[in-house]
Amino acid sequence: MIPFDFDAAVIGLGAMGSAALAHLAARGRKVIGFEAFSPAHSLSSSHGDSRIIRLGYFEDPSYVPLLRRAYENWRALERDTGTDVLTITGVLQIGRPDSPIVSGTLASCRAYGLDHQVLDAGAMAQRYPAFALDPDEIAVFEAQGGFVRPEAAVAAHLALGRRHGAALRLATRVTALEPDDAGVTLRLGAERIRVRRVVVATGPWIAELVPALAALATPIRQVVAWYEPKDAAATALGTMPVFLRDAGLVGSFFGFPALDGAGVKVGKHAHFREAIGDPDHPNAPVNEADTALLDDFIARRLPLAAGARRDTATCRYTMLPGEDFLLDQLPGEPNIVVASPCSGHGYKFASVVGEILADLAENGATGWPIDAFSFQQLQGKQPVPAAD
Ligand SMILES: Cc1cc2nc3c(=O)[nH]c(=O)nc-3n(C[C@H](O)[C@H](O)[C@H](O)COP(=O)(O)OP(=O)(O)OC[C@H]3O[C@@H](n4cnc5c(N)ncnc54)[C@H](O)[C@@H]3O)c2cc1C
Repeated sequence: MIPFDFDAAVIGLGAMGSAALAHLAARGRKVIGFEAFSPAHSLSSSHGDSRIIRLGYFEDPSYVPLLRRAYENWRALERDTGTDVLTITGVLQIGRPDSPIVSGTLASCRAYGLDHQVLDAGAMAQRYPAFALDPDEIAVFEAQGGFVRPEAAVAAHLALGRRHGAALRLATRVTALEPDDAGVTLRLGAERIRVRRVVVATGPWIAELVPALAALATPIRQVVAWYEPKDAAATALGTMPVFLRDAGLVGSFFGFPALDGAGVKVGKHAHFREAIGDPDHPNAPVNEADTALLDDFIARRLPLAAGARRDTATCRYTMLPGEDFLLDQLPGEPNIVVASPCSGHGYKFASVVGEILADLAENGATGWPIDAFSFQQLQGKQPVPAAD
């Protein structure tokens, strides 16, 4: 038998791959990571200063145990690397009482006994004047909400992996996987590397190495914008929580207090759902329709933040059916572990996803509840529709 060069390879070093690399290396595995560009680059999904983390998960209460572990693992990463990764600001989830965000958050809070407060429009005006609510809207406040710094978290996971002996190959694209009964041969152009297990965490490029996902994983374009606050005190870190806001048929918006002198950041979940063709091509630049959507939102809903628009950025979501995650071994190829946990809400989980991917790569199983994130669960489901 051809000997193995490594116990495991991780392909793609964004949020998920960097975390998997750190966990595998910390367990003493001989591991190598490959990144086609540079970690957290601007065509990936893991850049842009901030990602919301919250416990009361409106999408489904079943995520809460994973979130609890994610918080623990983010704090452990901070301790292990001396990096500032997780900031607690509180989170406001705003909408009408029957909106998915408000009713779903309350369902999660009830199911897991999570501390929260329900604030009506009057209480919000007193406590969080940055936000303009309609009289029939309410907010669910959770003190434990906050944000993760995506670039810092990727760098910290890679530093931890390196400290435990992981090898890194940046600007190196894996072009094909050749599995056999015992392991997997990676092709990098003419070069070949043989490993026992592979974790594929290639974000918007996932279908290139996992063709089974070509019809199911839909990368879409996302846009965010930063605004100069009109009222620095009301929008400051320490005063203004991160937030999600239901917007009825339009969807939902999210945002952050003014961070690091960059202003208040807002975006609309899934934006215009514009499908990205070739992920190697740059995203279409920000246009007037993009900025009009976000300018209108901030003027109406965060008037004290609605000063001049300072900056914009594009990013990518990789959407799966049900806007859910995939964390599983490739059917028929147990030595290939596939990770596509995005659908626009995956970052906060990266610290526990890394642990789960290490479990799957080492043992083919994990004690964490991921049955909902299997290839089997995707069977027969329709891809998330994109606008283009
Ligand atoms: C604007 C925006 C806001 C978001 N907000 C939130 C939020 O508030 N909270 C939250 O929890 N989540 C949020 N998300 C989602 C979250 O950011 C993603 O779930 C997460 O970043 C996905 O990380 P990833 O590692 O799967 O993918 P990526 O970060 O895209 O990493 C994949 C990497 O694989 C590399 N790669 C691809 N192919 C190859 C190859 N063949 N060989 C080697 N390397 C390869 C790529 O270059 C890339 O670096 C948001 C996403 C966006 C875009």
